[in-house]
Amino acid sequence: MKTGTERTDVVIVGAGFTGLSAALELKAAGIDFLLLEARDRVGGRVESRQNGLGERIDSGGQFLCEDMPELMALIEARGKTLVEAYVDGAFTAQPATSGREAEQIYAGSMAIRHRMNAIAPDDPDIAGLTVAAWLERQDDADEVKAVFRSMIEGLWCQALEKMPLWHLIDNDRRITNEVSELQYFVRETMHSLADDLAGDVDDRLRLNAAVTAIEHGPGGVRLISAAGTIEALTVLIAAPPVMVSKLAFTPPLPAALEQALGVWQSGAIIKVLVRYPKAFWRERGLSGMVMWRDLHGLFACDVSKDDSHAALVVFIGGPLALRWRELGDAALRAEVTARLTQALGPEAAGILDLSYRDWTDDRWSGGAYGDLIVDVTAVDAEPTILAGAPPLHFASSELSPSFPGYIEGAIVAGRIAARKIIAERQIPG
Ligand SMILES: Cc1cc2nc3c(=O)[nH]c(=O)nc-3n(C[C@H](O)[C@H](O)[C@H](O)COP(=O)(O)OP(=O)(O)OC[C@H]3O[C@@H](n4cnc5c(N)ncnc54)[C@H](O)[C@@H]3O)c2cc1C
Repeated sequence: MKTGTERTDVVIVGAGFTGLSAALELKAAGIDFLLLEARDRVGGRVESRQNGLGERIDSGGQFLCEDMPELMALIEARGKTLVEAYVDGAFTAQPATSGREAEQIYAGSMAIRHRMNAIAPDDPDIAGLTVAAWLERQDDADEVKAVFRSMIEGLWCQALEKMPLWHLIDNDRRITNEVSELQYFVRETMHSLADDLAGDVDDRLRLNAAVTAIEHGPGGVRLISAAGTIEALTVLIAAPPVMVSKLAFTPPLPAALEQALGVWQSGAIIKVLVRYPKAFWRERGLSGMVMWRDLHGLFACDVSKDDSHAALVVFIGGPLALRWRELGDAALRAEVTARLTQALGPEAAGILDLSYRDWTDDRWSGGAYGDLIVDVTAVDAEPTILAGAPPLHFASSELSPSFPGYIEGAIVAGRIAARKIIAERQIPG
């Protein structure tokens, strides 16, 4: 562990995709910086682990699609191999529903989503409404609403009762992909991309360097970290809002900024990877995609790399993740296996390996794909955080103008913040 005081121009706190992208941007501009990361690895919410078969698997962010230009470009530039997710065949609705009926129910839920997104986020008629309260007012059949709830709680990992409607619309409008976001994943793991990016800033990276306190004034900033004290002119905190709100600032942040950071809540996600000897569902004309409308936030799809690597990923999102984490290890495994068996037949019990990563309450990234605002009145929270309190700047995927809550969003957010810092540093005087 390094101790003592180091000095640099810019400190970036957090080596997720936001911090890594910002670091590469500063490096290209020839600006001196240090990148401090609390964990013993880079990637943040993009992470890989070994499963019980000794295979390295993405236990965090994994998927992308051709409509995410910055991430696609990085993957190509770094020579990664894209695997196209298998989507041929029928999707499975749970509880079991005939093909035609299922199609109608699922089309109905998409119609609710389109109706919702046609509302302007600042429409006075929706001021103060949560997504749940708005949904209650819709005339759709209960089954259709249940699918909508399952889809949104799965995607945003948060209870509809907590989500401001304007915030969901505002986020959803920034997610502009036309093809499925589950189109591709990276054979070498998405996490290997984070490692490759970190390789370019190796000498500037400090792992195991959790920042606990930040003292700032006109003359600069002092950061107290597990790797020692660092003095800098400018700081970019590249961590989600909930994590930022846990830092001790001296003097305290301006009241409006402190309030803006305090209105977010981390969602909850448990990601499960189930390996099988073969992709048995394909032989039965199924895509392996399963959506449960009786267990909101539960979703599965095929992530087989090839014939010798048959796999399903199961996402347990939102309030369901908070309930199922209380089950304990054996009961959680049994629950996932039972649900897959119900949906895809008895062969789903013939598991080679089931590995899961519980992100709920993750110490350094919150509990899900992204934090969400949970105060219906906090319409200024995002612009207030983005304005920062120079020399303190903030960025994270949640605050991205495109694809908030996604890896693409993190890359964009990191680059924008870095360019702002570069521009400030180029102003003479
Ligand atoms: C299970 C799961 C599945 C996902 N699936 C996908 C997917 O398929 N596709 C997709 O596009 N996105 C997915 N996401 C979302 C995506 O991974 C994130 O939105 C994105 O990676 C966030 O990047 P970030 O850099 O903004 O934040 P983070 O990745 O959270 O990075 C913040 C970093 O800051 C560090 N940090 C925090 N506090 C401190 C401190 N005090 N001192 C020092 N360091 C600190 C953290 O350790 C972390 O490394 C998924 C996320 C999860 C959890």
